[in-house]
Amino acid sequence: MSSRFVSLDTSDVRFPTSAELDGSDAMNPDPDYSAAYVVLRTDDVDGHEGHGFAFTIGRGNEVQSAAIAALRPYLVGRQVKDVLDDLGGAWRELVHDSQLRWLGPEKGVMHMAISAVVNALWDLKAKRAGLPLWRLLASMSPEELVGLVDFRYLTDALTPDEALALLRQQAGGRDERIARLEKNGYPAYATSPGWLGYSDDKLRRLCREAVADGFTQIKLKVGADLDADMRRMRIAREACGPDIRIAIDANQRWDVGPAVDWITALAPFEPWWVEEPTSPDDVLGHAEISRRVAPIPVATGEHVQNRVVFKQLLQLGAVSFLQIDAARVAGVNENVAILLLAAKFGVPVCPHAGGVGLCELVQHLAMFDFVAVSGSMDDRVIEYVDHLHEHFVDPVRIRTGRYLAPQAPGFSSTMRPESRTRFAYPDGPVWQQHRTPPPHP
Ligand SMILES: [Mg+2]
Repeated sequence: MSSRFVSLDTSDVRFPTSAELDGSDAMNPDPDYSAAYVVLRTDDVDGHEGHGFAFTIGRGNEVQSAAIAALRPYLVGRQVKDVLDDLGGAWRELVHDSQLRWLGPEKGVMHMAISAVVNALWDLKAKRAGLPLWRLLASMSPEELVGLVDFRYLTDALTPDEALALLRQQAGGRDERIARLEKNGYPAYATSPGWLGYSDDKLRRLCREAVADGFTQIKLKVGADLDADMRRMRIAREACGPDIRIAIDANQRWDVGPAVDWITALAPFEPWWVEEPTSPDDVLGHAEISRRVAPIPVATGEHVQNRVVFKQLLQLGAVSFLQIDAARVAGVNENVAILLLAAKFGVPVCPHAGGVGLCELVQHLAMFDFVAVSGSMDDRVIEYVDHLHEHFVDPVRIRTGRYLAPQAPGFSSTMRPESRTRFAYPDGPVWQQHRTPPPHP
């Protein structure tokens, strides 16, 4: 008898990272890295579960969890095979639900909830196939990959036929690139040295450690105080030496004019890119900033809400690096669309991974991009943040500044059950000891 989905369970898991100011930046001074977590179970004898999550930074994680729970009726009771054999269809069903889409459309809490569930479905599919997700995607034909993508709103920039041609062009070299990935891994850059709340001494020490660990790029949070940014850039440049790339990240702090002034003031320190200079919705603003701070490249994407906004950023030449996030747009399918768009426009994808579990997820997408879509690692790096990996069953592995290719079946999304229990909010033992963080005055 064929198996069915029997449950979709959510949990609100929060880590008290604000205590150490890990993750602090100009717009997010006190994040508690959190996961609105979902587990899909079936009645199949293999016992495999699909795990996924939306990343938030604390308050509101209960709202995100409730949005995921609202998707339960779309899966529970359905035949597993029907759903997993047509994940393009499952994606369309969720994203285009005629009533749910009023909550977006295709943006915000509901879209992120769909991301968590779609990613959990991909985790389950990869576990059942006995492959890490990147290998599963890399084993799919160009036709199957194009079938995952919803081209509605994209065809003025990318048609299904163009996508097919791009994928076919790379199909011949896939085996050789898989071998290269498994041997050498994929380049990473280190964000951990540059959180805004760290002291100068800690910044200096962590910069030196990152270089000693083999990283060739780090990132500094900027945008709260220009004098402090200049001082911190100077410290980082001295600690890293002239050959290390130092990107800067303003986390949406500026209007267009102030962004240009601030970036111009930091230009003597040669930032590798400036990330999120302004609102993620302001496509024209990004284009204007790009034009006026050239040749300093502009990067964005972690808060870009869907493939349509990514399309516009590319059409306008507003970004030089595109930063996908595994859990903000609606999961693997939408990220395949964005990778295809980026390949069409020749813009390198450098994924965002600052959060809990985001490194684990997005490494699969970057590696798939290398094998099957862009075919290149040139100027491409995956963000690496050095904390909270111990909570995952299949944590990322970094060697000399590179991500090693994941080998375990699935999407590396499974959080250890004991971590989910200990950090459950608000009743887990860790939160019984921490005061519930107050909202801002
Ligand atoms: Mg960022």
